[in-house]
Amino acid sequence: MSVLTRNEAQTRAQLLDVHRYTVDLDLTTGEATFDSTTAIRFTARTAGDTFVEIKPETLRSLSLDGQPLDPERLDGNRYPLDRLTAGPHELTVAATMRYSRTGEGMHRFTDPADGETYVYTQLFMEDVQRVFAAFDQPDLKSVFDLTVTTPTGWTVLGNGVSTQAADGRWHIAPTPPISTYLVAVAAGPWHSVTTQHAGLPFGIHCRRSLAPHLDADADEILDITRACYDRYHEKFDEPYPFDSYDQAFVPEFNAGAMENPGLVTFRDEFVYRSAVTDTERQTRAMVVAHEMAHMWFGDLVTLTWWDDIWLNESFAEYMGYQTLTEATRFTDTWTDFGVARKGWGYDADQRPSTHPVAPDPDAVPDTASALLNFDGISYAKGASALRQLVAWLGEKDFLAGINTHFSRHKFANATLADFIDNLATATDRDVHTWADAWLRTTGVDTLTAHVETSGHSWNLTVDRAGDRPHRVTVGTYDHSLDTHTGTDQLTLRDRFDIDIPQDGTPVTQPGHRPDLVVLNDHDLTYAKIRLDPGSWDTALTHLSGIPDPLTRALVWNTARDMVRDGELHPTVHLTAARTHLPYETDLALVQGVLGFAATQIADRYLPPQDRPTALATLTSLCRDLLRRTEGLTAKDWEQAPGTTTPGSPDPGLRLIAVRHFIDAATQPDAIQDWLREGTVPGGPELDAELRWRILTRLAVLGATDETAIAHELDKDPSATGQEGAARCRAALPTAEAKVAAWQAMFTDDTLSNYLFTATAQGFWQPGQSELLHPYVARYYPDAIALAARRGPAIAEAAGRHAFPAHAVDPDSIRLGEQALTDPALTPALRRKLTDQLDDLRRALAVRDAH
Ligand SMILES: [Zn+2]
Repeated sequence: MSVLTRNEAQTRAQLLDVHRYTVDLDLTTGEATFDSTTAIRFTARTAGDTFVEIKPETLRSLSLDGQPLDPERLDGNRYPLDRLTAGPHELTVAATMRYSRTGEGMHRFTDPADGETYVYTQLFMEDVQRVFAAFDQPDLKSVFDLTVTTPTGWTVLGNGVSTQAADGRWHIAPTPPISTYLVAVAAGPWHSVTTQHAGLPFGIHCRRSLAPHLDADADEILDITRACYDRYHEKFDEPYPFDSYDQAFVPEFNAGAMENPGLVTFRDEFVYRSAVTDTERQTRAMVVAHEMAHMWFGDLVTLTWWDDIWLNESFAEYMGYQTLTEATRFTDTWTDFGVARKGWGYDADQRPSTHPVAPDPDAVPDTASALLNFDGISYAKGASALRQLVAWLGEKDFLAGINTHFSRHKFANATLADFIDNLATATDRDVHTWADAWLRTTGVDTLTAHVETSGHSWNLTVDRAGDRPHRVTVGTYDHSLDTHTGTDQLTLRDRFDIDIPQDGTPVTQPGHRPDLVVLNDHDLTYAKIRLDPGSWDTALTHLSGIPDPLTRALVWNTARDMVRDGELHPTVHLTAARTHLPYETDLALVQGVLGFAATQIADRYLPPQDRPTALATLTSLCRDLLRRTEGLTAKDWEQAPGTTTPGSPDPGLRLIAVRHFIDAATQPDAIQDWLREGTVPGGPELDAELRWRILTRLAVLGATDETAIAHELDKDPSATGQEGAARCRAALPTAEAKVAAWQAMFTDDTLSNYLFTATAQGFWQPGQSELLHPYVARYYPDAIALAARRGPAIAEAAGRHAFPAHAVDPDSIRLGEQALTDPALTPALRRKLTDQLDDLRRALAVRDAH
């Protein structure tokens, strides 16, 4: 198979003008394959050679302008179209195509809960070729007109409104011009909730076995959808460009969601079967808002080539968080972004594989290299950069520039240069220079505050390691005694904006120096922040007393990257968590800080002999949180999300404490009791997710067995039940369990993407290093061979979840470095391994620093 290069795409875009795809899919031909017939109408601007792409099981026939072509001439995924004459042409291609089990192309899934089958497409980047023949590149937009034949009882969803004809076939209304990677079909006996908004049909869909769970949240999901839709119409001049808005929650989806015009597909874990926190509901809402932003940025105006995926993703990410804050009950989204998302960007930006937000086009020569850029830089750093741009430019000018961009390039394609030129029309500021400094460079700036007292005033100077201009807010805080509670609080004295670099003179403020000076207080920029020593002392001792959660998120992020940089002992971070989290009211903060403490500090940054103490600290912290959330009634657990009474215990906080207590338990007794009783004392009752979570932990501790796992699977035979069982089985601390799990992952090529991931998540456990030691060396050759056989989605899962991430030692790193020289390594796995090895090196450096 050949990957498309940028040069080839440019040549083909100059030669061809593509008008219309008429695609006929027959999904009734068996469980392994389906039939695909495509007619493509296009014009060659001059005479010339080109090719069309397809990845068939069997290429049955082709014809050009009615003349048959020889199917044998297919070369990999390319069929050559030699000596095309100038003028209009029609190419028809008939092929048998294979369903996938990896979430790529046309994924086919049979629900173990009820035996119903569903298929859906994920055609991103170049997987349209797995479904029908196409000139597959983003800047050859076309009308798509699809007809689908299905088993009886199915519904077909597509980009346009779908209707069923008298003969039973489904016809999807032709699209406006869109890119090949954005075509979508989802077919099966869907459960649907439909409505109308702004004169358009809106629908949400999921497989039947999840129907009650979708119904329970339908109002919430549709309210958020409508609120975002209306808000975008206030921001954007161009109306929503498609004829309907469907959101389908589909099984075994690899990403969070995909922005197909008129048919967004989501992973169906977003249809909650078990209790979730309000932060998780906010995440789902954010994904709804993110994907809808793509309808304009990505779908209406599309990147010309894949070097600009950041433009799609950063924009949607920024808009998603900002629009939720403005238009829904989730008014505190930037705290979650700060604590859960920004670290992803900072971490990626400090690895050897970092790249500019907007990479040089030459650095993205083909689709395989473009696929590697779906990372923390393109999403989190890019969104932070846009947030800083809005702070620097003002929102009014930013939106004016965006609207110019949409009106100039609608239903067509645009580049970074177009985007910056369009922003420049709306402002006197030098956006081109800003873009060079922010988008064309790599790495994180570090801003360090120095505070000095001078007579009756104090001075602030900021050292900057790095080259970017920053506009930041400085927050100043003083101790105050809360007379009601007798506790020592921090109160805001003042906030002011400064530009960095400073012009050479420090900022002078009247009065004594504040007890706490916070740089970047509203978290409007992307930089590592170092407080002055006096402020850092105050922050560590009074973190939970800082009034604004966004400020607390910023301080927690500072502590996090100080640990990662070897400047703060990991146990100091753990002690701060132990001290302050019992008083924390923001769920996203509790979740984010506990997650880092458990998976990084306890599992990787502390040497193995210190891990039991760290886990004991985490469980005692969780017990505190459980005590703080006692007294919840059954009604509290059932009440509508987001309606907790201020001052009363928060069920979400209790749920976080329960989950982390389970994950950190070093003794089985307490959680075994919970499982037997079916409830945590004082609630919650155990739902399927918590039962599987406990059973996984018991498996890790060697306190359960196959009989118990099989029994649990009988009770919950759903798809998530199957994943839970696979995770438990792989986690058992026996040689036989590990052999079986390894075979399932690395020799059984039928394992679906989700079952692969579940097995991998169970397999590696930091407390089982002796048992797992032989697999560290086996991992590299086995993963390299697997990635070559099963493609990018499984390579990604193998690199992310099946990697020996707890083997923090020089031998393990050396094995990995040797593997990087293997010529059989695929690009997707190479990138994952490079990043994982860098994380191992960093963990080792953190251990060595203290
Ligand atoms: Zn996106």
